[in-house]
Amino acid sequence: MERIEEKLRILADAAKYDVSCSSSGSKRKNEGGIGDASASGICHTYTEDGRCVSLLKILLTNHCIYDCAFCVSRRSNDVKRAAFTVEEVVELTMNFYRRNYIEGLFLSSGIFKNADYTMERLLRIVKKLRLEEKYHGYIHLKTIPGASEELIKEAGMYVDRMSINLELPSEEGLKLVAPEKNHDSVRKPMAFVDQTIQEIKQESALIKKKPLFVPAGQSTQMVIGATPENDYQIMKVADEFYKSYHLKRVYYSGYIPINAQNKNLPQIGSTPPLVRENRLYQTDWLLRFYDFQLEEILNPEHSRLDLEIDPKLSWALRNPHCFL
Ligand code: SF4
Repeated sequence: MERIEEKLRILADAAKYDVSCSSSGSKRKNEGGIGDASASGICHTYTEDGRCVSLLKILLTNHCIYDCAFCVSRRSNDVKRAAFTVEEVVELTMNFYRRNYIEGLFLSSGIFKNADYTMERLLRIVKKLRLEEKYHGYIHLKTIPGASEELIKEAGMYVDRMSINLELPSEEGLKLVAPEKNHDSVRKPMAFVDQTIQEIKQESALIKKKPLFVPAGQSTQMVIGATPENDYQIMKVADEFYKSYHLKRVYYSGYIPINAQNKNLPQIGSTPPLVRENRLYQTDWLLRFYDFQLEEILNPEHSRLDLEIDPKLSWALRNPHCFL
């Protein structure tokens, strides 16, 4: 029990840097088991109607074969390592759910051995929860870049939301701090999940019992302020991802300095860009809900958001002719 508690401490702490876990919108119904994802949102955040919901947010393991400089789980980081077994994650989720501590599970992982080895374990967890434990609560699963499409497709049948982090907004930024990774390893699975969602939607029109596949859609996260991309570059990527892969959300996570060794990253002690993060979310909202076009708010001549005023006011001040 003590070992499980220690694992929980290590793996919940390592998971806290991933912010891509708000909003639910799942249609999964309780069919005679426990929980109901349609009734609860994702945790550790506030829903649109102001409810605070809770989620068991953990990594399966913080062992990782990669060495992304911005990540606390990178292989060169001297931190305590741990790994849950499949059974331990299932037991923890069920115990917490039954005690009403959580309303869902947010499960991510470092990559141990290889992508498929890790993804296969994540799949076993979500499958066991749904089929053996009859758990109908919310599940948000992070997809492992490089995992095979068969494993991703099967996992998608059991989870509500899937996400895969783009990490840095540009390929150049990624090369600077995570040279072993590239954007293609994110785009490929994202395109595959999107295509499968669309295909299943079309099939659903023809058959009575709809198969569920990632009913709450996909999301991604970008780390902001770790590398020198400007706001126009960041929002251009987000805009393209919304349009190409029908994402439900793009999350912008202000970089928290955690690496003293890498000269390419802001040093420990520098302030995370939280106001900038907020301005990016405001811009994101203007694009998604207020029909603004990206170039109206940001463009090559106006490539940085004003930190003093919100992007809507900034647009109004630059376009007085619209108010004559
Ligand atoms: S692959 Fe993921 S978990 Fe591993 S170091 Fe990179 S960001 Fe961290």
